[in-house]
Amino acid sequence: MKWQHYLIGLVFWASMAMLADTIWRTSIGWTILALTYGGLVIIRARHLKRLQDWARKPEAALPAELGVYDSLASDFCQHYRAQATLADELSETNDAIMAAAQALPVGAVTMDQNFLITWINRTAEQQLHLILEKDVGLNLLNLLRSPEFAAYAQKREWAEPMVLKLTRSGQHHSIMLTMVKYSRNQYLLITRDLTQIEKLETTRRDFVANVSHELRTPLTVLTGFVETLKDAPPGILSRAQNDQYLNMMFEQAKRMQALVSDLLTLSSLETSPSAQRTLVDMDSLIEKERQQIETISAQRHHFTWEIDQNLNVYGVESELASAILNLMTNAVRYTPDGGRITIYWGKEPDGRARFSVTDTGIGIASEHLPRLSERFYRVDRGRSRAVGGTGLGLAITKHIAMRHETELTIQSKLGQGSTFSLMFAPHRVVSSIQIN
Ligand code: ADP
Repeated sequence: MKWQHYLIGLVFWASMAMLADTIWRTSIGWTILALTYGGLVIIRARHLKRLQDWARKPEAALPAELGVYDSLASDFCQHYRAQATLADELSETNDAIMAAAQALPVGAVTMDQNFLITWINRTAEQQLHLILEKDVGLNLLNLLRSPEFAAYAQKREWAEPMVLKLTRSGQHHSIMLTMVKYSRNQYLLITRDLTQIEKLETTRRDFVANVSHELRTPLTVLTGFVETLKDAPPGILSRAQNDQYLNMMFEQAKRMQALVSDLLTLSSLETSPSAQRTLVDMDSLIEKERQQIETISAQRHHFTWEIDQNLNVYGVESELASAILNLMTNAVRYTPDGGRITIYWGKEPDGRARFSVTDTGIGIASEHLPRLSERFYRVDRGRSRAVGGTGLGLAITKHIAMRHETELTIQSKLGQGSTFSLMFAPHRVVSSIQIN
């Protein structure tokens, strides 16, 4: 009921009371009216109290009895529910935006015009060593403590990003920082970790330098001999000298050939997708390589072969052959004459299959072990060259292992010998199948 109706009612009943009191010359009409309205005031006070209680927790159901406040309360309730739905929707949108900002692969820090932080995403927390809960409200310039960044930030116009060098637990990191103004007095700092890209760039540069260096030495020797042969007056060189020079030239040419061949193998492993895997008969593959390695060893070493003939793996035969031959060739290269080389192929108790080559050779000091499969890493460069090594054999083997979800493990003791193993995952291994 509307307030006008109450007013009209009040005027009507007051007129009636006045009329009755005038006719009967009493004051009973006013008394009844006063009592009635007094009662109504009490009832409404109760309704008002209910309304107040509900207004404190408007998400609860609307009280049933609100009398005169009923329509007011239901209007308010409708309005409140509409606002609450809108607020929920806005909050969901906000949460989605925040989640997206959190998941960004780049770091983001928002701040006001005084560089006081208002928000930090997870990536920026990691890259700049900040903590959202702790650092909000603090000045970013004080937290980063970099004069270069302070100078950059205070320019207030950022056409270019800057690179900040940070050290975290002894590791150096390069972070690219870009400041952006995104509203009148709000700034956004975008951060990107360049460490990995810089490392790749260094690896690439080192690789080119290494290849050039490896090729330059045999080329210099080769050119020297060619010049000597070319410039020597006829008849000055004896037949023996001539042969010796040609042999040395041939050695250098072979060295370059081996290097180029290894480089091509590595490059094709890196660029080509994994070839279709087939079930490789490991027994006959090892047998083929056995003939090669025994020829290379030329009876300078004692070989022991412990081969499970019924154990095969899914893989690429040519790649596995190359990995196996690399490990066996290294054993021959780095084991002095008379040493023992044991080739093992069998199943491990955990279901994996192990191909390993154990030698009684020169062994490797432990500090070299983690770096052995890096390209061109050699313990003794001169020795490796002398035995025809290119420094790429283990890098190739490691690559092949990775393409076969296989682990290359190395155990070695200086002066006592080494074991290089390829550990094939159980799902690649098939046992007790005879392939004809
Ligand atoms: P390389 O062509 O020089 O043999 P690899 O990548 O095959 O290159 O091996 C890297 C280095 O690891 C070798 O130069 C050598 O120092 C060391 N190495 C590899 N295999 C053995 C082994 N069986 N015994 C001792 N040292 C080895």
